[in-house]
This record gives sequence, C-alpha cells and structure tokens, in this order.
Amino acid sequence: MKHELTINKTHWQEMLKHVQEHVPLEACGLLAGKNDRVEKVIPVRNQAQSAVRFVMDPYEQLRAFDWIEANALELLGIFHSHPAGPETVSRTDIAESAYEVIHLIWSRTGDRWEARGFWIENGGATEVSLQIVD
Ligand SMILES: [Zn+2]
Repeated sequence: MKHELTINKTHWQEMLKHVQEHVPLEACGLLAGKNDRVEKVIPVRNQAQSAVRFVMDPYEQLRAFDWIEANALELLGIFHSHPAGPETVSRTDIAESAYEVIHLIWSRTGDRWEARGFWIENGGATEVSLQIVD
C-alpha cells in the first residue's frame, strides 16, 4: 500500500474548484505524477450525474490514461467529492474501487471543504497522509 501523497497548493485548489463547481453533484477526477507527488490534476466528468455516486466518463478516462502515459507519469490517485457526506470512503467506493491508487475524498461542513486520502484494500480502507506543499 501507499502511505502518502504530496500535493502542491495549486493542484489542491484546482481540485477544490472542480468539486465546488459541481455541487450538489459528486465530482471526480484523476491525479497523475511521479514518486508519490502529484504533477497533474485531470478532472473527469461524472457520468452518473448523481449526488451520491460517481462513474467516470469512460471516454474521458481513457483519454486521461493516454495523456498520463504519453507524459511518462503514473496514475497516483482518484479524487471525488461527497457533497452530502460522508467524509470517508463509502461502502460503494470500496466495492467499486478498481485501481490500486490513493482515493481522495472531498467532503464539506457548511462551506468548508476538506480532503482526506485513503488506501482501499481487502474490502477495507486505511487513511493515508496527504502532504500539502507550496
Ligand atoms: Zn464516494
């Protein structure tokens, strides 16, 4: 498992903006980079257009994977929002988790958004450390 993900403030804000723009729907996207450090945030359309789940648009996801490979980066994480909670991965997230990457969950209390990272394995989730840097 991975224990840590490093994200700079610009990328953090990019994710936050994408997530906020889609309230009340869940928003999602991919995090690409190298050596556990994010170098690119790739928003992906939530095909489910739902407030309680997300399904990445398969075409956009494929394009993103191609871009990541073409730029010699790795898929490090998948982020999505829980506009109505919970602040952790849901049962559905665990059941539908298809990639061995860090899952970053954005949740809010009032207008304040927070993100937490999780590693999903063997039907459970373990919190991982998110390092926010300049
Ligand atoms: Zn979720």
